Amino acid sequence: MDERELARKAEVAELLLNAARYFGETLEPERVYERFHELLGDHVPHDGLVVSSYDESDDLIRCEYAWVEGNVVDASTLPPLPLNRSGGGMQSQVIVSGEPILFNDVAERVQQVEGRYYNVDREGTMEEISRTEESGTTAAMMLPVKLEGRVVGVVQVMSDSGEYSSGQLEVVEGLVAQMAAAVRNTRLQKERRRLEAAEAAARAVAAEREQAAQVLDAVGEGVFLLDDDGVVRLWNRAAEAVTGLPDEEARGRRLAELVHDWDALSQAIPASDASASVRSATVPFEVRGRDLWLSFVAVRSANGIVYAFRDVTGERRLEEEKSDFVATISHELRTPMAAVYGAAETLLRRDIALGSEQGRALLEMIARQAQRLAQITEDVLLTRNLDRGDVQLERRPVDVAELVRATVAALESQLPEPVPVDVDIEADAALVSGDSDRIQQVLMNLLDNAFKYGGKSRVAVRVENANGSVRVSVGDSGPGILPADAERIFEKFFRADPQLTYAPGGTGLGLYISRELAQRMGGSLGVTSSPGAGATFVLELPRA
Ligand code: ADP
Repeated sequence: MDERELARKAEVAELLLNAARYFGETLEPERVYERFHELLGDHVPHDGLVVSSYDESDDLIRCEYAWVEGNVVDASTLPPLPLNRSGGGMQSQVIVSGEPILFNDVAERVQQVEGRYYNVDREGTMEEISRTEESGTTAAMMLPVKLEGRVVGVVQVMSDSGEYSSGQLEVVEGLVAQMAAAVRNTRLQKERRRLEAAEAAARAVAAEREQAAQVLDAVGEGVFLLDDDGVVRLWNRAAEAVTGLPDEEARGRRLAELVHDWDALSQAIPASDASASVRSATVPFEVRGRDLWLSFVAVRSANGIVYAFRDVTGERRLEEEKSDFVATISHELRTPMAAVYGAAETLLRRDIALGSEQGRALLEMIARQAQRLAQITEDVLLTRNLDRGDVQLERRPVDVAELVRATVAALESQLPEPVPVDVDIEADAALVSGDSDRIQQVLMNLLDNAFKYGGKSRVAVRVENANGSVRVSVGDSGPGILPADAERIFEKFFRADPQLTYAPGGTGLGLYISRELAQRMGGSLGVTSSPGAGATFVLELPRA
C-alpha cells in the first residue's frame, strides 16, 4: 500500500469515526438521514439520494428519505414498491444479493436490462421510466443496509454527470453502515421510550384502580354493582359487613337468588342517571336470615346499576319503639285519666246530692287512679334512667325472705278479689346483697303479674338457697307464656297478646325494669313456662 493509499484510508477512517459521533447525537431517524446526506455531500457529490427500507415479511420496499435535485421529498407520499427477485431492477438486485453495486452506465441499463425503473422528481412524484425515454442519471451507487447480516434497506446515491469510483463506494459503504447502526439505535431508543411510557401509563392505571378499590372498601356505605342481568359484579367490604354476605359468595350471582324478593324491591329504588339528582328509598332487605332495613340510592352506569346503601335497621327499630311507646303510654294514661275526670265531674255536679259514702268512694277512686298514673310515669322515668345508666343501686345485706312475706301481705290486701297464695320459705334462707327497695319493686312486679295474668289461679312463692345465691320463684297456673315470647316479655314495651280480654292494662315495662334491676344487683331474672300450665318467674340474687 503506497503512502497516498494509506493517507486516504486514514482519512476515510477519520470520516467514519466523526460520522458515528455525529449520528449518535440525534434520537430521530429523520435527523440521522439528514446528517447522512450532509456528510455524504462533503465527500461524494450527488444529485439524488434515496434511502429505502425493505421488509422481508411483505417483500415491500418503502422510501424512508429522498433528496432529489436539492429538495427533500416527503417520503410518506411515495408508494411502496414490490421486490422484484428475478428482474434486473437495481434496488431489487442489491436486496437479493446483499452486495453493493456501482453503475456508471445507468442510461444504457434502463434501456436494455429488464426491470422496472422509476424516477422521482423534485416534487416527489414517482413515475416509472419508460424504456424509450432517456434517464438523466449517469452514475449510481446502490448499497444494501444490513442489520445482523440481513438486508433491511437500500441506499441509492445518484449523479447526473460523471462517474463514481470504487473509492467513493467504499466511503459510502462505511457511512451507510454507521447510518444503519445509528437508525437502529434511534429506533431502539424510541421503542424503549414507548415501552417506558406504556409501562408508566399501565402503572398509573393500576394505581388508580387500586386506589378506587381501596376507597370503595374504605367507605362506610355498602356499595354493589349489578349488571344488566342483575348479577353482582362488585360487592365492597361495607356491603359484606352489613349483610353478612362475603364478596366471594355474592359476586357472580344474581342478587335475586340471595335477597328475598329483590326483583320486587328493586322496583322501589329509583335508579337515576349520573347527572340527575338521586332519590333514596328505604326497603326491607332479608338476607341470610338477617332482617335489615336499608336506605338505598342507585345510579345507572355504563356497566349496570351502582347501589349504595346505609343500614338504617337501628333507626327503624328506634322509630318503631318510639311509636310503640307513644301508643302504649297514651293508651295507658287514657283509662285512669278518664276515671279521674269522670269521678271529679260527678263530685262537682250540683244537681245530684251525693251521700258521704258515695263521695268517699269516688275520692278513693281518684286517689287509686292517680297512683296508677304516678306508677306509669315512674316506670317510664326509671326505664329512661336505666338506659342512661343513671340508676344508683345499694349493695346491702337484705333479708329477702322477710321482704317476700311483707310484699305478699301488702299486695294481697289490695286485691279486689282474694287469690290463694302459698308462701314456702326455706328455714335458713340466706341474706342477699342488694337494694331492698329495688328488690321489693321486682317482687311486686312479679306478684302483680301473677295476680293479673295468672287467671286467679293459686300463686306459689318459694324462697330457697341455691349455690352462691338465693332463689325466689313466683309461679302461677294461668295460661302461661308461648315459648316464642319467653324472652321477648323482658323487652321494653312488649306485651304478649295485649288484646286478650283477661289481660288488664300495662305498659310492658315491668319485666324489663325487673330484669335490669336484678342484673345490676349481680343477679338474674328468667321464666319457665309451658303454655296452659302457668308460668314461673325465677329471681336469683347473690348472697350477702
Ligand atoms: P305489663 O304487665 O305492663 O304488660 P310486664 O313487663 O310486667 O308488663 O309484662 C310483659 C308481658 O309479659 C305482659 O304483658 C304479659 O303478656 C306477659 N306476662 C307477664 N307475666 C305473666 C304471667 N305470669 N303469665 C302470663 N303472661 C305474663
